Amino acid sequence: MPSSGPSWRRSHEEFGYLRPADPAEAVALLAADPHARYLGGGTNLVDLMKLGVERPRLLVDLGRLPLADIAPTGDGGLRIGALVRNADLAAHPLVRTAYPVLSQALLSGASGQLRNAATTGGNLLQRTRCLYFQDTAKPCNKRRPGSGCPAREGVHRDLAVLGHSEHCVATHPSDMAVALAALDATVALLGPDGARSLPLGDLHRLPGDRPDVEHRLLPGELITAVVLPPPGPGRSAYRKARDRASYAFALASVAAVLGVRDGRVTRVALAFGGVAPKPWRAWAAEDLLLGAPADEASFREAAEAELAAARPLRDNGFKVPLVRNLAVRVLSDLAEEAAG
Ligand SMILES: Cc1cc2nc3c(=O)[nH]c(=O)nc-3n(C[C@H](O)[C@H](O)[C@H](O)COP(=O)(O)OP(=O)(O)OC[C@H]3O[C@@H](n4cnc5c(N)ncnc54)[C@H](O)[C@@H]3O)c2cc1C
Ligand code: SF4
Repeated sequence: MPSSGPSWRRSHEEFGYLRPADPAEAVALLAADPHARYLGGGTNLVDLMKLGVERPRLLVDLGRLPLADIAPTGDGGLRIGALVRNADLAAHPLVRTAYPVLSQALLSGASGQLRNAATTGGNLLQRTRCLYFQDTAKPCNKRRPGSGCPAREGVHRDLAVLGHSEHCVATHPSDMAVALAALDATVALLGPDGARSLPLGDLHRLPGDRPDVEHRLLPGELITAVVLPPPGPGRSAYRKARDRASYAFALASVAAVLGVRDGRVTRVALAFGGVAPKPWRAWAAEDLLLGAPADEASFREAAEAELAAARPLRDNGFKVPLVRNLAVRVLSDLAEEAAG
């Protein structure tokens, strides 16, 4: 493939490839062609192209953009460029010490090889692993709006128990995004009309009757960075349940941040993965926990309150106790650590 030059198209199987060096140029390319796609590490997009799920006319490779730095912010937080590789982010000393939940989430995902290629921006926008979504011979409302959702009656063991709709029960697959949700991260964006930012919790949409619209980016918008607030008091951890010990997506996962003083919860942030179409911030549980005794009974009561909204399907009811027990375990461990 040429490293730059005009796009070319002779059939649906061929696509153009450009490698701009300037973020504004990348945005202009995307804005000019609704069939263009950004290419991060390519570990998800290229797989979907091979399956025929994605058929871009133009790939805009982000590899030359100056967005691969991790730098402290003036207020004690951290700015993570969109092109920082998952492996580098997990290994960064500030991430490991100040935001262990993020490092642990990244290391629980994929394989070493994939983490070396996958980027921060691409990880956030990776698509669902629902089998029907990946199979173009099957209907799927997310791939082809209005065609139906065979997963509801079919294979849905891995799919959502929270936040889904009759139109789609897919889960968001990213581990990293769950940790970022618990950390109150912000996503920095650049679009044709300039820069803006979104709380990470607002980046992904619930499916409702439009499962094909997965996020709140405007046409052509590029993720340029993820910004973490200062770590604050307390400890954090990520725990993931999966079918195999490694190299598997979450059946359920929990990211938790917990601060404890005099036996009571002074700070808490809790997010669930593998159980919803987006990283699921457990606001109801957090409300109950703030000021409560930092003990197993409170953690169980809070997790159960959050999961009262769960609507499991025929074969995925096991996820409700699974995520509840994971949440209780990870919070109990953090409380024990705090007690020394
Ligand atoms: C076998 C296997 C196992 C895996 N296991 C796990 C797992 O356990 N946990 C987990 O979390 N992940 C897992 N993954 C997924 C992996 O983490 C993702 O494929 C990867 O993070 C995607 O990043 P990328 O840079 O390669 O994205 P790409 O494939 O390059 O892009 C993904 C999407 O993001 C868009 N995009 C990329 N960068 C930007 C940007 N800066 N701004 C706007 N849009 C952008 C692209 O256009 C595309 O739509 C697994 C993948 C494989 C193949
Ligand atoms: S769950 Fe969503 S992604 Fe899976 S088949 Fe149904 S509509 Fe498609």
